[in-house]
Amino acid sequence: MAARRKPRPQRKGSASPAKRHPGRSSRREQAPHPPPGYSLEAFLIHGRERTEHWDFSHHVVPPLSASSTFRLESHARGESGFCGFADPASRGRGPKVFIYERLDEPVRAMLEERLAAAEGAPVCVAFASGMGAISAAITHRLRAGDEVVAHPTLYGCTYSLLTNWLPRLGVRVRYHDLVNGLGSLRLKQRTRVVYLETPANPTLQILDIEAVAEKVQRANRGRSPEEACRLIVDNTFATPFCQRPREHGAEVVVGSLTKGINGFGTDMGGYVAAEGEDESSLLVFRKDFGAALSPTPAWRILNYGLPTLELRTSRQQENAQEIAEWLAAHPKVARVQYPGLADSQGYEIARRQMHDFRGRFAPGSLIYFEVEGRGRGAARRADRLVDHIAEHGYVITLAVSLGQIRTLVERPGGMTHSVLPEEVARTCGIGPGGVRLALGIEEPEDIRRDLEAALAAL
Ligand SMILES: *Cc1c(COP(=O)(O)O)cnc(C)c1O
Repeated sequence: MAARRKPRPQRKGSASPAKRHPGRSSRREQAPHPPPGYSLEAFLIHGRERTEHWDFSHHVVPPLSASSTFRLESHARGESGFCGFADPASRGRGPKVFIYERLDEPVRAMLEERLAAAEGAPVCVAFASGMGAISAAITHRLRAGDEVVAHPTLYGCTYSLLTNWLPRLGVRVRYHDLVNGLGSLRLKQRTRVVYLETPANPTLQILDIEAVAEKVQRANRGRSPEEACRLIVDNTFATPFCQRPREHGAEVVVGSLTKGINGFGTDMGGYVAAEGEDESSLLVFRKDFGAALSPTPAWRILNYGLPTLELRTSRQQENAQEIAEWLAAHPKVARVQYPGLADSQGYEIARRQMHDFRGRFAPGSLIYFEVEGRGRGAARRADRLVDHIAEHGYVITLAVSLGQIRTLVERPGGMTHSVLPEEVARTCGIGPGGVRLALGIEEPEDIRRDLEAALAAL
């Protein structure tokens, strides 16, 4: 064990410590980063050699911590732990005092530090699922009477959160087409959140983060930091390997760890990457609403998921490009949307905003396509396609989720996005014959074999 520094005496009352630093401009805060000269990839594998989140110094692999509570040598230590929790002034000041797993925990904290680095954010807070992170990111600063503006093409549960739950709490939710109607977007004094996904689930529609961020920044002129509107981008489809929304002006990034970052389909989790000034509110929200990421999934994501993100995603992306081109030429496929195809919607924007850690174009690992046909006929054919894969396919699995080493297929209209009313699905561009394909790391010929057989059977 490394010697622990004596905890600094701290002021009491950690509920809203951010208030004590009203002038703090967290823009100056840096994201965690590798030593000079080393790559971000290296940091995702090695992290910091010494970290305030961990006081073991001889393990190569951080031990899997499984302790819901922590021994306190003295009442004073317990008191300083409680007072220091969620206090921005205590961040980066030597070993933390851990109290109870739901508040803070070493393995999760190490994962948060590396996720923050991946997203280029000063801080990151991890949750038990992507939805735990999304609900926290959206609501932690809201009050009754505030408004959320969202692009309508969204993950089904996010759509349900915004449509079914927030209005009950007195929060207005306004859907606005941020692709075709950005020019007419008006943000009101009470608009506190603008929310979008890009590429959007399930249609892979591409939104221009920079253009939306500009609107939000203009609306924020003259507003106090407490009243500022935040642009929140769900980066689940791209993962930070293919896109870092903060580089394009978004303040807050949310994502599911369950998908590409875990990558093996073994665990659930979610994260919010943000400015330092949001950290205490997010931590207190997580403590009180309770959706904290457990150390076991955090440990697997820290040791297996994040270090292999680049390897896995590069391979998946190669597969996606090859399969997208092949599908686009197939006579039974009406339309393919993949940000790596030059005739896909938003291709020019994708070329600008989707880059891997080395700056190469990174259009990601998901494809949306529609089988030939109209209306119910198309829906039946898409059903037959995925059923054929379920029955005869070997490397493609009919299942929701994405970003895994296994290739997964689903029909959003009837599954992940069935909560959407038909007319909303239509405005979102989710056709009845729509199919979502999430590429794995298999050989592309094997993936094509399953698809070829299923398309031939239509
Ligand atoms: C899966 C998903 C989520 C939710 O993540 P969970 O970990 O399942 O809660 C949110 N957004 C998008 C785009 C997703 O694909």
